[in-house]
Amino acid sequence: MTKNLEPKNLNTVNRRTQPREPSEPCEPMSHVITLIPGDGIGPEVTEAVVRIFAAANLQIEWDRQDAGVVAFKRYGQSLPVALLDSVKRNKVALKGPVTTPIAEGFTSVNVGLRKALDLYANLRPVRNLPGVQSRFENVDLVIVRENTEDLYSGLEHEIVPGIVESLKIITERASTRIARFAFEYARRYQRTRVTAIHKANIMKLSDGLFLDSTRRVSREYADIAYDERIVDAACMHLVMHPERLDVLLLPNLYGDIVSDLCAGLVGGLGVVPGANLGADAAVFEAVHGSAPDIADQNLANPTALLLSGLLMLDHIGERDASARIRAALEGVLTEGRVRTRDLGGRAHTTEFTDAICRELEKSVV
Ligand code: ATP
Repeated sequence: MTKNLEPKNLNTVNRRTQPREPSEPCEPMSHVITLIPGDGIGPEVTEAVVRIFAAANLQIEWDRQDAGVVAFKRYGQSLPVALLDSVKRNKVALKGPVTTPIAEGFTSVNVGLRKALDLYANLRPVRNLPGVQSRFENVDLVIVRENTEDLYSGLEHEIVPGIVESLKIITERASTRIARFAFEYARRYQRTRVTAIHKANIMKLSDGLFLDSTRRVSREYADIAYDERIVDAACMHLVMHPERLDVLLLPNLYGDIVSDLCAGLVGGLGVVPGANLGADAAVFEAVHGSAPDIADQNLANPTALLLSGLLMLDHIGERDASARIRAALEGVLTEGRVRTRDLGGRAHTTEFTDAICRELEKSVV
């Protein structure tokens, strides 16, 4: 079942609709959208989505922007001002993964972008896809991850050689804001339960404040059930009975880890989309990272970024195109002849993309 993403505070999309006389036939809407190809498998999967959107006759002018290593080499900045200006101007971006150097180098571009644009809510719908084999059926849960603080604040220092400290920042403001987002989302999309995930038995102050804030918000939503689970127990529950969970509300770090776990429930990182949402902008990106092990080999599965792109189309009011593309994707997956390697097939990224485009062309009038 498709639940359209339509955060009510995000309706200020830059949309260039052609002025026309009432008697003229309806012109398709045209949009200007920032495209961040990223690195690793990013350029391959973003190119796949661009081709599929063109095959669906969408009128999109892509404003391409570099990030990460590519941008650092070119402009000396991993998150260039031009990129931020582009997203602020266009309000919407589709983003491929950007590698974050491990234990050295520049700080995460992904985290930097979310902070710079105050994209406080990370939304990740996790569902079974037709034709994609997985350990579980009937999984239909939504991860709502706080995106701006927690251990992602990047506040680390060495106290003395051999001892370091990382600061976990939790604020009442950010916790309340993300809790309200989760409950509003649940209400809007007829979800029945929000489960807050925490470790407040150990981190009594930080996770305690997160829970206090979510409890307070939950009292305003008598129509939505609310419960809490400790993160370790929640992980066990997820790998035993994922179909029993609905909306999961998590601070940043647990949200990151539980997202990959949930991707594993429905077929892997190649099939789970995401959206980073704020009051003024929205950046759509897959849950997976840059997968350097398969980069530049035409092996990546573009499904996760394509599904993120469909969330984006819903967001900008292109629901018909989104539904047509989803049907084409599901048609190809269900038919099962053309699949990427991660889904047990042998097809390359471009062959899988071609198959979706062909399926779409059948439905485009
Ligand atoms: P990050 O730390 O940047 O979030 P990650 O730890 O989530 O990254 P990924 O880069 O997402 O790791 O990839 C993990 C593994 O999953 C990769 O090694 C790759 O084999 C596989 N993988 C990820 N995305 C895809 C994809 N789109 N298609 C096929 N395989 C993928």
